[in-house]
Amino acid sequence: MLADLHCHTRRCGHAHGSVGAYVQRAVELGMDAIGFSDHLPFVDREDRTLTMSRDELPAYVREVREVALGADGIEVLLGIEADFIPGTEDAVSALLDDHPFDYVLGSVHVLGDWVFDHPAHLERYESIDVDEFWAEYLATVRAAAATGLFDVLAHPDLAKKFDVRPAADLSGAYEALADTLAEAGMAIEVNTAGLFKPVAEIYPGRGFLELCRGRGIPVTLGSDAHAPDEVGRRFADAVALARDAGYEEAVLFRGRQAQAYRLPEAEEVRHAGE
Ligand code: ZN
Ligand code: FE
Ligand code: FE
Ligand code: ZN
Repeated sequence: MLADLHCHTRRCGHAHGSVGAYVQRAVELGMDAIGFSDHLPFVDREDRTLTMSRDELPAYVREVREVALGADGIEVLLGIEADFIPGTEDAVSALLDDHPFDYVLGSVHVLGDWVFDHPAHLERYESIDVDEFWAEYLATVRAAAATGLFDVLAHPDLAKKFDVRPAADLSGAYEALADTLAEAGMAIEVNTAGLFKPVAEIYPGRGFLELCRGRGIPVTLGSDAHAPDEVGRRFADAVALARDAGYEEAVLFRGRQAQAYRLPEAEEVRHAGE
């Protein structure tokens, strides 16, 4: 059993491919389930290069459900990736409640007015205090978890994307984050997209994954595919990392309820299509 719960489609303005094209690729790979997690429209701004418009959300929901009904031999799940922006919780909550999502990925891509993971805004890294940036990132992620709005924390240590590393010891902040995730009943994502970024590592690092494992926090697997040929990429490495950290199961979500499944061996995944 294998499920990729983090896939984007062309609706967001920076990904390629239709829902059907992603599903076809997942079938080719022998995946058992694929979940769509297009970016939820911001509630306090509009940026058509980052998310679909509010008007498009019903069509997204309809398209994923239609493809799900017609899909043969694979389960298609309707998810969404929602940004946490402090102060927007009520509006985000209302928007999420309006649609029958199987799961909600919670993400922090924005700190204040800075989309810190966007390659167009890299110059800002020259003028920040790196330790403060990391502390703010981890505190914001923890605040996101505390809202109870999200089922899964996506790319938990996204702040490392451009290989900007803190000098300070952040272990206390990571412990606090893991505690909050456990209290919130959230899962975390093992996301392979980081392997293709300057950091060249899976999100999260092994240390944090072990902290989560110690607290019984479940994991999902996600490629963060922004094109159909990125579905499931490097999943053998994701499975190997999760197993190294002590995980024998992962979860997927139906109707916002986690369902555990047994992780394959990394070797089985390698043979399946990498
Ligand atoms: Zn995206
Ligand atoms: Fe993201
Ligand atoms: Fe994403
Ligand atoms: Zn993402």
